[in-house]
Parts: sequence; C-alpha cells; structure tokens
Amino acid sequence: MIYLDHAAATPISKKVLKKMEPYFLHDFFNPSAAYMPAKKVNAKYEAAKASIAHTIGAKSSDLIITAGATEANNLAFTAIKKPQGAKKVLYLETEHDSVRQIAQKYGGEKIKVHSSGIIDLNDLKNKITDETELISIALVNNEIGTIQPLAEVSAIIRDVKIQRLKKGIKTKLLLHSDASQALNLIDINVARLGIDLLTMNSAKVYGPKGVGALYVSHDAKLNPIILGGGQENGLRSGTENVPGVIGFAEALEEAKKHLASNRKKYATWKKVLLKELHDYELINKKHTLDNFIVICYNRIDAERLIFLLEEKDVYVSTGAACAASKGVRSHVLKAIGLSDTQIAGSLRITLGETNDESQIKKAAKIINEVVEKERERIKNAG
Ligand code: PLP
Repeated sequence: MIYLDHAAATPISKKVLKKMEPYFLHDFFNPSAAYMPAKKVNAKYEAAKASIAHTIGAKSSDLIITAGATEANNLAFTAIKKPQGAKKVLYLETEHDSVRQIAQKYGGEKIKVHSSGIIDLNDLKNKITDETELISIALVNNEIGTIQPLAEVSAIIRDVKIQRLKKGIKTKLLLHSDASQALNLIDINVARLGIDLLTMNSAKVYGPKGVGALYVSHDAKLNPIILGGGQENGLRSGTENVPGVIGFAEALEEAKKHLASNRKKYATWKKVLLKELHDYELINKKHTLDNFIVICYNRIDAERLIFLLEEKDVYVSTGAACAASKGVRSHVLKAIGLSDTQIAGSLRITLGETNDESQIKKAAKIINEVVEKERERIKNAG
C-alpha cells in the first residue's frame, strides 16, 4: 500500500502508542479523584499539557484540551459574545469547514485569497471595521498547504488596535489560527506570531485522533460550549482524556525534534514526484508546505482516478476528506480561481511518515500508467 493522504489522517506512531498504553491499563484513574494514584495521574496529565503548551511557546494554563480541532475551532468563536448582529468576524475563504460553518453562524465575512492561495492583505485591511472582534486564518491550508503570513496579519491588527486606542474604542480584536496542518513542519510561537487563539490537532501529527487543544491568550475570554464538571478551567467539562493528552504531547515532541529534517525530506520527495509524473499542471506552486502537492490532469475526472489508483493500492484524495466524502466541489480550489474542469481534474497528494523515496517513485509510475489508460479510454469513447 502507498498511502499519500497524510493530511486526512496520520497513523499513530509506535512510540506514542507505547507512552499511552499504561494510562489505559494501570494508570486509568480519574485525575480529579482524591486518592494518591489519581493525583499521580493528574500530575502526569498536567505535565503533558505543559509539554504541549511549550511547543507553541505557551503555558499549560493557556491551553484548553478538546476532543479534536473541530471542537477547538468552535470554542474559539465563543470569544464573540453575541452570534447575531453587527459583522464581528472575518475569516479566510479557504478555511476548513469547521471554521467556515461556525464563522458563518456568527455572521462572518470572507477575506479573499490570491490565486496562490495566500491571503489578500488589502482585502483584509478594507474589511476590518471598528466592530471587528475576531479574525480567523489557518496557518496552513488543509487542501493546498498554503502557509499564511500570520506575522503580517498581526502587524495589521496591531495598527488597528493603535487606531482604536486613539479613537477611544474599547472593542478587542483577536486573531485565531487553525494550525491543524502546521504542527508537523512549522515551529510555532504564539507570542511571536501575535496569535490570541490557536487550534492544535493531534490526529495530524501521528498522535491519537479525537484530541486537540485551543491556546487562549489572556485577552480572549471564552464561553464554554460543553457544561459539566468544570474541567479545563470550566471551559471544557468532561473527564480528562489522559492517554490522549499523553500521546499528543509525545507526538508533538517527536514532530518538533524532526521539523527541519522532515521539511528537507519532503522537499526532496516532492521534487522526485514532480519530475517522475507526466503531463500534469501543478496547482499549488508557491508558499506551500512541501508535503502538499496538488496536481491537475486536463479533462480527467479525479474522482475516477482515485478509485482506479485504489485498485493499485495507491491512496490519494481530491481535497479535504470530509468534502470528498460528500462529493462537494472544493471551495478552496474555487477560491484560487480554478475552473470547474480544473477542479474536477485535481488530485491532492500529501506525503508523510509512511512513505519513502522508492514509494514515491513507484506511486508516480502507477499514477502515470493509470492516467495514460484513462486518457486512452476517453479518446476511444469519443
Ligand atoms: N482543521 C483543519 C485544517 C483540518 O485539516 C482538520 C481535519 O481534517 C480539522 C480542522 C478537523 O479536525 P478534527 O476532525 O480532528 O476535529
């Protein structure tokens, strides 16, 4: 099997699984319980949280552990008091559905991207009003891997804040970023990037699924969406997912250790893949993480390609896994100006730890053969 869909899911690393195991079997205690074994588990949980926070330059008390990135994204928007009314939210038009849908619920307005997928900073500047309270921009896009210039966005926000201060406007302006796809390859420091709310996702960094976190700066005041026992500073009730958090911390530690070498590795593999493949158009040419490769085959139905490739044990996708399963055309590819035919012919290949260079070469050969056969079939049919 050649798996080329690491943006959809990553297998849990053996090292991570080993770290988690004792917390399922022996150290299973509820961290809130009063006896000593439970207190010890609580200490381990807090240490893991501190380690997760440390990877983004934050403190444990700044993190709310959630059951994944979708929940963290939804929680971030509770920084806005009233869902209805004035336009308080701006979000990038290429955001993941878990941001788009909640942003729309809050009456959010879209910020445009250029054809490269990069944010149109002028559009952002034009759309910020005195009422804007939250701006949501993913650090790395989950379909085309675009890395957004968050430091430049922060600089714009800083200027707006200065202007507001001069005008005596007390409205806060927060920056939220979904970093689900970034943690593997980008060294993130929330203070340096000027981020107030950061979504983290364990499932994309070879950690367990259903575990995530939201970093919350002191400027952001959230409201819980899940009520109960008051865990996570009262912002996310429910018994702590101890093994999940232990695993997430280990996965992030591993990712952090190999950031530079992995970036180099994926850059090499990307070059190999693009050299070996025939007759395609590269869609995501600039400002992207090298493990994201989006290619378009003229007049070919990528959905069909996916099934044909699966028959050869090669696994790729046409875009976000959730959109793909619904048969919805990618809003991201549309936003960067692709025609319907180009969107229909686009494949997303995301490289990862299950691959090696010989696999990449083999995958390219299989893709070439399948595309060629498909072209023959189309030619003969009509
Ligand atoms: N945000 C981004 C950018 C993603 O890629 C994903 C996962 O596909 C999510 C959010 C949702 O993550 P989860 O399904 O773990 O809640």
